[in-house]
Amino acid sequence: MDKCEATIVGGKTRAIITVNANAIPTRKRFSLSHEIGHWHHHRGKILYCAPGDIGNPGIADALNPERQANDFASDLILPTFLFKPLALKLKKPTLPLVREIAQEFQASLTATYLKLVATDLFPLVVVCHGQTGRRWFRAAPSIPGWWFPRAELDADSLAFDMVFKNAPERSYASKIGAAAWFEFRNSDRFEILEQSFHLPNSEVLTVLTLPGDAMS
Ligand SMILES: [Zn+2]
Repeated sequence: MDKCEATIVGGKTRAIITVNANAIPTRKRFSLSHEIGHWHHHRGKILYCAPGDIGNPGIADALNPERQANDFASDLILPTFLFKPLALKLKKPTLPLVREIAQEFQASLTATYLKLVATDLFPLVVVCHGQTGRRWFRAAPSIPGWWFPRAELDADSLAFDMVFKNAPERSYASKIGAAAWFEFRNSDRFEILEQSFHLPNSEVLTVLTLPGDAMS
């Protein structure tokens, strides 16, 4: 299982799925669901899935098998018909509230935010940074493309302090000028909310809540 987070070896009617026993429970659940996704979409193949493939939101190509397996896993762990009613009750998508939903579904906070972004109920952009810059981001489908996050963290952002100085997470979202996160013309006219949490490997995921009228 070196360099491999999970595998599926299957025939026509049966398969054996193996997942990394050292992973945390939410990760094991996601890996298992990812492999079931391969069973659904790519039956008959032997697949060795790397840690960087399982749950990687940075795979842009919707036809990539790893992306298909991740989308399947998201739908299995966070089914829309159960998730959406809870999301509709959220007044604000703050970390403590979304963390409660994540625990209810035994999903990671990242997977839960990605699902929330996909529901298009809130003007959200989630963006992941490490010390060498932006890793990936996802925006709610109704948000216009010019809300494209900067590659580098602004030194005024709390996320900067979290990535480079290991500052702790805050329980509330802070206001910040949109120009700190977006570089389109007149971005300085907008104010947004920023809240971040730590991920493994010194990465930080930031949840940006845009003004309500940012959604077209
Ligand atoms: Zn895979």
